[in-house]
Amino acid sequence: MDEVWLKRGRERSVYNRHPWVFSGAVHHLKGEPEPGDLVAVRDASGDTLGVGYYNPRSQIVVRLLAWEERDIDATFWRQRLQAAMARRERLAVDASTDCYRLAYAEADGLPGLVVDRYADWLVLQALTLGIDRRKQELAVLLLEMTGARGVYERSDVDVRPREGLDDVAGPLAGEPPPLAVQVRENGLLFEVDIAQGQKTGFYLDQRVNRQRVAAYSAGARMLNVFSYTGGFAVYAGNAAAAVTNLDSSEQALAAARANWALNGLPPEMLSEIRGDAFVELRRLRDRGEQYDLVVLDPPKFAFSQAQVQSAARGYKDINMLGLRLLRPGGILATFSCSGAIDEGLFLKILHGAALDVGREVRVLERLAQGPDHPLLLSFPEAAYLKGVIAEVT
Ligand code: SAH
Repeated sequence: MDEVWLKRGRERSVYNRHPWVFSGAVHHLKGEPEPGDLVAVRDASGDTLGVGYYNPRSQIVVRLLAWEERDIDATFWRQRLQAAMARRERLAVDASTDCYRLAYAEADGLPGLVVDRYADWLVLQALTLGIDRRKQELAVLLLEMTGARGVYERSDVDVRPREGLDDVAGPLAGEPPPLAVQVRENGLLFEVDIAQGQKTGFYLDQRVNRQRVAAYSAGARMLNVFSYTGGFAVYAGNAAAAVTNLDSSEQALAAARANWALNGLPPEMLSEIRGDAFVELRRLRDRGEQYDLVVLDPPKFAFSQAQVQSAARGYKDINMLGLRLLRPGGILATFSCSGAIDEGLFLKILHGAALDVGREVRVLERLAQGPDHPLLLSFPEAAYLKGVIAEVT
């Protein structure tokens, strides 16, 4: 195995079990590893820190897979996938749910690999070159281990260019999925478009939060902003008085309508607005509309640390608009999936929005990504979704 030797003092994060080695930490290489090859990582004295895969095109030159020198063979991948599957059985799924994140990259000891399960189909994302090179082998293994009918690739994600990779999507192993895969989440039914939908087809990370928000929906006039395929709407459908989905995507709204009907909810209770939330919420305010429950679940605004300031303005703006549409005593459920904005900053932004519109915001619940997106303490980068449910007076 070729070797990557670190500069003196730069081994600390690896000792703390952080699985990334940045290019600036590398002193020299021993051998000539090809992109994606396995390398042993040594500290300045030559002690072994672990084994990982190498990508000279990325700022993260090594992603560590193990903390000792060992073979990374089929048995290794099988064990890691097995552990990820067992974790989901214990923590994240029950009989009423057949869609969930099966493998969450670094958090499951599988840097660069995301696998989502949608009933009998799996969706794989190769976020790094090291995984990209092995994805075919992994897909075959996953098919065998899970009994799924097919593995479809959705490696069309923002991080791929940083690894020197282009976007790819398509079937990897087994049968290709149908246009709509029907899944169950907490006993509710959804159709997922694996090939064309956003991300891998569905926002699995909001599973627990959809339940929490629904708990505030009894008798409510609800506005579900950034609705996508209507997850929050369907959960609230049985208790709410009326639900409006708002999204810029006609496809998303159509899927939300279909999901509403699939769960036997009355069509006359559902309405929708297609357009830019920043424009449409102003329009609703000008018309004097008032809601009991407003959900704001925008797409990622900050893709890097450099975008935090402008993203913060976006979050403040959208939350001011949402707050203004709530009747006194109404409930705001608001989220941010920008990893670069932590919970503390998110709460500050909300506070700023509340002050500017002259409302008092009382946080009732703090929310995060569900337990199938676990957070390994040595890898805080995995935390990205945060939200609050708040009473607005
Ligand atoms: N709440 C959803 C996920 C939301 S994803 C769920 O539970 O599944 C974000 C959504 O915002 C996407 O559907 C996207 O189409 C929509 N979107 C992005 N920018 C928008 C904008 N400016 N105005 C309205 N919708 C927008």
